[in-house]
Amino acid sequence: MAQIAFIGLGNMGGPMARNLLAAGHGVAVFDLNEAALAGMAEAGARVAGSSRVAVEGAEVVITMLPAGAHVEAVYLASEDQACLLDQLPTGTLLLDCSTIAAETARSLAAAAAQRGLAMLDAPVSGGVGGAEAGTLTFMVGGDGAALDRARPVLEAMGKNIFHAGAAGAGQVAKMCNNMLLAVLMSGTAEALALGVREGLDPAVLSNIMKQSSGGNWALNVYNPYPGVMEGVPASRGYEGGFLVDLMLKDLGLALDAAAKLGQSAPLGSLARSLYTLHKQQASSAEQDAGRLDFSSIQKLFLAEG
Ligand code: NAD
Repeated sequence: MAQIAFIGLGNMGGPMARNLLAAGHGVAVFDLNEAALAGMAEAGARVAGSSRVAVEGAEVVITMLPAGAHVEAVYLASEDQACLLDQLPTGTLLLDCSTIAAETARSLAAAAAQRGLAMLDAPVSGGVGGAEAGTLTFMVGGDGAALDRARPVLEAMGKNIFHAGAAGAGQVAKMCNNMLLAVLMSGTAEALALGVREGLDPAVLSNIMKQSSGGNWALNVYNPYPGVMEGVPASRGYEGGFLVDLMLKDLGLALDAAAKLGQSAPLGSLARSLYTLHKQQASSAEQDAGRLDFSSIQKLFLAEG
């Protein structure tokens, strides 16, 4: 069992850290938000007052933070402006599970390597449900030997672990997957809205398309039309799940990468425009539509009726 420092205990990091504890690992935790630390001590974690204290004695450091700037802030400059990477003993394994730009992941891995530290980018798919159930998919970029060391730790939090390639490759896989997901979800919502306007029952239409050439993940497990599928965000007012704001963030990462490469991504661009329009149209004084599940893009197409 490993001694692990876990930094960033939000919607994803909290349950991931709990699964590490349940698997018998020693876990020290830190989050800027005190509320996120609530209950971690009772769960058996050592609650630290800073990331610097959390990493003391850790063989593995895991970060699960909102965006690249937060990850850089933790590793490259801590509260007193000293660099956390300089504090870690050679051989410490760093796993960043946040979704950030591949470019940032590569430069962090290089900064770590200069200090004799192996760093893997290991973003996840599977959402809060997958984090709670310990069934996340990890898309890993970095050295294969470091991944072999990380495997027992990742296996306590997920069921699929893919080695995508060198540093940054995990983030590339994640952004490609989520760009495709946004396109598939938007297309599914558009088709369902059209069929319903033509008088079809959305459940009947969904069943037909699921078994036909339009079948896809959204239809199979995450139907965006309210009332068609039990237990999905569409059937509880689009609460919980994977936020529109996070999808917009991931589309931004993919489109920034495409722009830097001079590669066109017309469908990804269109999906981002649709999600941006949806956020504007569905937000009100009472509700920020950025906080809704991303399948709420269905509302954009229904609003046209
Ligand atoms: P979150 O906002 O719920 O949690 C992030 C946590 O990081 C917060 O508790 C925040 O206080 C903490 N934090 C920020 N800066 C910090 C610092 N300097 N030191 C310590 N703690 C700090 O976010 P989340 O939903 O848990 O997502 C985390 C990452 O996982 C994101 O990159 C996101 O894109 C990715 N992700 C999320 C989902 C999902 O469904 N929520 C799915 C896949 C991937």
